[in-house]
Amino acid sequence: MHLPIEGATDSQLHYLRTFADSKAIIAKATSAKRVVVVGASFIGLEVAASLRVRGILVDVVAPENQPLERIMGAEVGIFIRKLHEAHGVSFHLGETVSRVNGRAVTLTGGTKLEADFIVLGVGVRPSLTLAEQAGLAVNRGIEVNEYMETSVAGIFAAGDAARWPDPRTGERIRVEHWVVAERQGQVAAKNILGGREKFDAVPFFWSQHYDVAINYVGHAEKWDAIDIDGSLDARDCSLVYKKDGRTLAIATMSRDLRSLQAEAVMEAEIKSPKRDVA
Ligand SMILES: Cc1cc2nc3c(=O)[nH]c(=O)nc-3n(C[C@H](O)[C@H](O)[C@H](O)COP(=O)(O)OP(=O)(O)OC[C@H]3O[C@@H](n4cnc5c(N)ncnc54)[C@H](O)[C@@H]3O)c2cc1C
Repeated sequence: MHLPIEGATDSQLHYLRTFADSKAIIAKATSAKRVVVVGASFIGLEVAASLRVRGILVDVVAPENQPLERIMGAEVGIFIRKLHEAHGVSFHLGETVSRVNGRAVTLTGGTKLEADFIVLGVGVRPSLTLAEQAGLAVNRGIEVNEYMETSVAGIFAAGDAARWPDPRTGERIRVEHWVVAERQGQVAAKNILGGREKFDAVPFFWSQHYDVAINYVGHAEKWDAIDIDGSLDARDCSLVYKKDGRTLAIATMSRDLRSLQAEAVMEAEIKSPKRDVA
């Protein structure tokens, strides 16, 4: 999805969805001094970090209170914001771009910024037209069963576009992460070849910010507690996302073994639903 921004020309606006998009941003960055990045989630922040490494001044504009807050909570959000600020990124949170006039970018709160170009790290939507035209069941993604098979027998879907029943919660979820897409593709391929394998892997992703990597395993869209062990500022911690006392997901920094152990226990939980990870 492309967002309209009043006054902006197409050549000022960049998305990052393909290799060609990436090359176009890098080409522009060779002569740019200032860039506005819209969106403080994974793509926006990774673009901000890449531009800062090139010495470009970066303003990140986003409606949320803290970056990544919706996915990882305020604690991680504050840590990530401070990390990017320490690398020179300026945040304008709680607002978005209202209009553009040449190099002048005006935010909804009235702040005026300058930008040689704007990167929009927002508006990603699954491409569902083909599935809809084919008559597959579509509900904010292509619905599949545990075999990655759509509502039409013999047609399979996997990856960012697929919404599948999460065996840990029974809820249908859709996840936009590399390892999930890879593993789902493998299961779908086996089943296309006549197998009958369930997709029961636990979702996993990593997010790299400068020299800090965060590993995340499980899936928590909503939680009522985050148990933190260790220190975010020391970049050595695990955060356990819980709902009704049950562990839904774990994020770790510098604790890869903890992350792998949590993944193994969550996988075991799928096979024997009474266990918990915490
Ligand atoms: C900038 C960026 C950074 C990312 N960083 C991370 C990261 O750090 N960690 C992580 O876990 N994930 C990351 N991701 C997400 C990860 O790339 C995706 O989860 C993964 O690529 C999903 O794979 P996929 O095959 O489902 O979809 P895609 O990789 O999007 O591939 C879908 C393919 O289908 C094609 N297609 C679409 N519609 C049609 C059609 N009608 N007919 C034919 N072909 C069609 C598309 O052209 C595309 O080639 C990142 C994504 C982006 C954009």
